[in-house]
Amino acid sequence: MWQQKWIIGNWKMNGSQSANRQLLQALLKPVDVAAAHVYCGVAVPNVYLAGVNEFTRDTSLAVGAQDVSRFAANGAFTGEVSAQMLADVGAQFVLIGHSERRQYFHEDNQELLIKLQNSMAAGLLPVLCVGETLAEREQGQEQVVVSAQLDVLASLGMREVVVAYEPVWAIGTGKVPSVTQIAAMHQLIYQQILSLCGEDVKIRVLYGGSVNAGNAAEILAVPHVDGALVGGASLQADSFAAIIQAAY
Ligand code: PEP
Repeated sequence: MWQQKWIIGNWKMNGSQSANRQLLQALLKPVDVAAAHVYCGVAVPNVYLAGVNEFTRDTSLAVGAQDVSRFAANGAFTGEVSAQMLADVGAQFVLIGHSERRQYFHEDNQELLIKLQNSMAAGLLPVLCVGETLAEREQGQEQVVVSAQLDVLASLGMREVVVAYEPVWAIGTGKVPSVTQIAAMHQLIYQQILSLCGEDVKIRVLYGGSVNAGNAAEILAVPHVDGALVGGASLQADSFAAIIQAAY
């Protein structure tokens, strides 16, 4: 999986048991066909994790969560779901620090460090999401902002790092950075991971933000773009399948 392109769907707070089954049913064949070249996964709402895991058992589709508790494995934390619990119901990876969580739940590096530690301790592969807002890009601050977000990786001793670069202004807006802008940010992210984690770290840097069937091939061909994190288009089987196909 460290040589393959990654295509990860982020369902966000969408789905139902019947809609999930329908979507997955349509995806399993394209995922299977792509399996030698593409690592495919879906990050689903916690309540659907066990069901999706059951449905995709013995297939090539990985299942992940969209967030994890910063609290302990278990205890008096009403409403929380720990990393151990996510792993117990079949999650293999977890999104950490998605911009919607940074925005609505004020997650910062201090909190995200704990979430990364909890995920690693439970055997979940964290996918750290980073990206600048429109105002930050307009002020020319994108590299500073993303570098500061990546600093959370400094003390973790990770041997395998997956980062999703998602400019906030591109998420769900239909606006996509130019290939030159994407290349510059992915190059910066690679360099910083290498300097924070050491030269022998395994790296995947995904691009996220309005990826669709029409633009996936161009984006996935950009140097240092190892895959895509896909929101809206991951809810349509034909779109998501086309994005997977564009990855090989
Ligand atoms: C996301 O939410 O991670 C995302 C990339 O969304 P969209 O593809 O809809 O822009």
